[in-house]
Amino acid sequence: MPASHQHFLEYAPAPESTAILNLKKDYGLFIDGEFVPGHGTPFATISPATEKHIAQIANANAADVDTAVAAARRAYEKTWSKLSGADRGKYLFRIARLVQERARELAVAESLDNGKPIKESRDVDIPLVAAWFFYYAGWADKLDYAGLGAAPRALGVAAQVIPWNFPLLMLAWKIAPALAAGNTVVLKPAETTPLSALLFAEILQQADLPAGVVNILTGAGDTGQALVQHPDVNKVAFTGSTAVGRAIAKSVAGTGKKLTLELGGKAANIVFDDAPIDQAVEGIVNGIFFNQGHVCCAGSRLLVQENIHEEVVDRLKQRLSTLRLGDPLDKNTDIGAINSREQLERIRELSDIGEAEGAERWTADCAIPENGFWFAPTIFDNVSTSSRIAREEIFGPVLSVLTFRTPAEAISKANNTPYGLSAGIWSDKGSKILAVADELKAGVIWANTFNRFDPSSPFGGYKESGYGREGGRHGLAAYLTNAPPDREAGATTLVPAERRAPQGRGRAK
Ligand code: NAD
Repeated sequence: MPASHQHFLEYAPAPESTAILNLKKDYGLFIDGEFVPGHGTPFATISPATEKHIAQIANANAADVDTAVAAARRAYEKTWSKLSGADRGKYLFRIARLVQERARELAVAESLDNGKPIKESRDVDIPLVAAWFFYYAGWADKLDYAGLGAAPRALGVAAQVIPWNFPLLMLAWKIAPALAAGNTVVLKPAETTPLSALLFAEILQQADLPAGVVNILTGAGDTGQALVQHPDVNKVAFTGSTAVGRAIAKSVAGTGKKLTLELGGKAANIVFDDAPIDQAVEGIVNGIFFNQGHVCCAGSRLLVQENIHEEVVDRLKQRLSTLRLGDPLDKNTDIGAINSREQLERIRELSDIGEAEGAERWTADCAIPENGFWFAPTIFDNVSTSSRIAREEIFGPVLSVLTFRTPAEAISKANNTPYGLSAGIWSDKGSKILAVADELKAGVIWANTFNRFDPSSPFGGYKESGYGREGGRHGLAAYLTNAPPDREAGATTLVPAERRAPQGRGRAK
């Protein structure tokens, strides 16, 4: 047994059974309420922990995108826009309850396809998915009171493209507010994690959601591109990399489509010397090692006050040595598999660059399984602000440690990034937390905690982290318009002041 493992209890394996899954061999596209064959070349989805084949997945080409958008348009005009908000809400409540009923199955499917530990999919992802649908179900009949104008209206058809790090949760973040606001949807999950979206399509059938209200198209980047560029969509919502987000922003410019982008991040987690250190160490671990660090708002840059730097880094190393890496379906696992070989290579490449640039590399001593994609928790100490591992998103279980002496220095280092999605502050003093938070250019700031999500709380970024907010009342704004009905949906900013709908109670957008 390696020396670093000696102090800790060994755990017996506690694998969650996959017997609850009733997977098909092949999955079609979900269009107009039914699973239909795709016209592109099908692809396999595999388990990143074992590289074993899970299922064959249909690939949507441009013609399939056309069919799905047409189905969504028909459903918008003929059924969904005719329903009252209260009736839309009933469907959303029904979906939320079905997600709860099938929670175990969804958690197992998510861990199998994504590689994330079952304790995270079971205790974080799936409960939040249900919470998101419950929350927006409650808004469906109260849109006039959301502070978005007197009588906001749906935009029409929403094209939604999501990444692989929280497959079902990102789906919920997109679909729940869109439906509550009265839009219909065509959604494309990421190519490495289509499974839970397809199980979700089965849930929509169970919920008797009218055909065409939600369509799910599996495929890769070209499918996403055809979807967001389709002339008959009114709204584009994208979560993913900044590079793709930038390309989408260009292609959508001037079309009148409304756009929200949730992109990358390089968040600072700032630890002051008056912070409760034990709690802070747990928060740092949760900030960057949760979900293998595949988290856009991960606390990937630790900014620690110089006088406690050594103590914090020592305690962090001790804590990381106790984390268990391995089978995502084992209930004891803390660190699961990296989602794809491609992502693993990117993490390796940036880590090698970090080492070459002179940062001190430390890696937790843990056994790496033979098959699958794995990366042991890693810390880079003495990282300089100009280093690539301090500037670029690694999107893996890798923490860069920098130090500061004064609050002003912490603020300036924290803001020295092209991103601005999230930040964390650890201190015993509320006044210090508020003063620092005021100066940070980040959409979400956690104090003495990290990576907390709640459907009522808006989430989104500054600068290259994107624009628009998801979650809360603010998340509804992305799917509603106040423009008079004769104007094209999404063209709110183009409406001259004298033609704008009267602003009733609440704040104008
Ligand atoms: P990605 O941008 O490569 O892919 C995201 C999605 O876009 C996938 O479904 C993909 O198939 C699709 N896509 C790829 N090219 C496209 C194109 N030209 N047009 C339309 N769609 C296209 O990103 P990724 O590697 O899957 O995800 C990781 C990135 O996502 C990270 O940078 C992370 O920070 C970001 N992310 C952000 C948030 C957030 O809320 N801000 C959440 C999760 C992930």
